[in-house]
Amino acid sequence: MPLVRKNKRCALCGSRSLKEVLSLGSLALANNFLLKNATRMEIKFPLSLVFCDQCSLVQLGHFVDPKILFSNYHYFSGTSKPAERHFKAYSALIKRRFAQQSRGLVIDVGSNDGIFLKNFRGKAMRILGVDPAKNVTKYASKNGVKTISGFFGKKLAEKISKAHGPASLLTANNVLAHTPLLNDFIGGVRLLLKQGGVFVVEAQYVGDLLEKNEFDNIYHEHYFYFSLTSLMALLARHNLRVFDVEMVNTQGGSLRVYIGREEDGRPVSERVKRLLTEEMTRGLDSLKTYRSFANQPQYLKKWLRRFIISLKSKGSKIAGYGAPAKGNTLLQYCNLGPMEIDYIVDTTPIKQGKLTPGSHIPIFAPGHLRKNVPDYILILAWNYADYIMKKERWFSEIGGKFIIPNQNLINGKFLPSPILAIKKKNKINTL
Ligand SMILES: [Zn+2]
Repeated sequence: MPLVRKNKRCALCGSRSLKEVLSLGSLALANNFLLKNATRMEIKFPLSLVFCDQCSLVQLGHFVDPKILFSNYHYFSGTSKPAERHFKAYSALIKRRFAQQSRGLVIDVGSNDGIFLKNFRGKAMRILGVDPAKNVTKYASKNGVKTISGFFGKKLAEKISKAHGPASLLTANNVLAHTPLLNDFIGGVRLLLKQGGVFVVEAQYVGDLLEKNEFDNIYHEHYFYFSLTSLMALLARHNLRVFDVEMVNTQGGSLRVYIGREEDGRPVSERVKRLLTEEMTRGLDSLKTYRSFANQPQYLKKWLRRFIISLKSKGSKIAGYGAPAKGNTLLQYCNLGPMEIDYIVDTTPIKQGKLTPGSHIPIFAPGHLRKNVPDYILILAWNYADYIMKKERWFSEIGGKFIIPNQNLINGKFLPSPILAIKKKNKINTL
């Protein structure tokens, strides 16, 4: 694969009928943090969305080689407490509902530092993680979650199947969207899934992306934006059947989908039928719906810039909270740099002491907030906004204000003026 290629054929169905929905310009890779004295030129890649009118999958207009994106990934899920809690509750639910499958071979693809799998230790016959990022797999294995490093697909699935046998429980959380060869990935799942076994997927929901204006969830690592409709089209090609679905609030809104082999003949729940009907009503299978969403990022950019610049002109100090991939899309797209945002804090040690990609804002540990107290905190990791505001309660107690970038931009409706919601002591006040 070259460094970057234009996406000319739908990664799901192969159709050439891809229509552009939105372009965010050329951005640096959202997880490519820079050393403070970096001298190397930073490469920027086009970031746009296209829609396939055959299978309705929303996907990136350009694909960056996954080897560049994931081999040295900086994301350690275990560093985030809310993520830790989410995976604990999620695994408890799976162990209850699929007790028999949980006692067999449990494989998690995109297992990261073992945040999900470690909850199966002792319960399962065997647990096995798969992840392409070598730095995290080493860490996971050291911590008792045996992890193979590699890109999952048919080839790796065959290898695992030979060495360990088929999986009775197979999971893929926040990973399907990051897999450019979708059919190879699901082909691998089909190959590795035992008869009567269950495959559970968590993936960000495109319905929430539209409804809550979560355009900052678009970044180069995130090739696909699923609806249940498009996900089912993909699974059906590999004789896999969705038998249940639920909505979970991770990552700004995700689908949790329960899948079995087609020939196992599990009955399909009412929830699946209801969500499919709802998606049709909302037009999630129509280009028009996505094109009308495309105006929202521009509005947010205009207002956020104007708002931040007006605060700066009054001499306010502004810090960012969190340097997640989505924050790096937002900062770059809105043209915000160290002139506007004084610094950013993030709990991930590997990001601290570095600069944000593209926008070059210095990153510190959260303790820096007390040493260099800002007037405003822009919450870039907005999916954890409540957690962050609770954790840093002292800041609102001394009169500091939190800004949540997309808070009042819901359902495409913008408050006339002023646009942004400021959360102070957990109450929304508009300025
Ligand atoms: Zn397609």
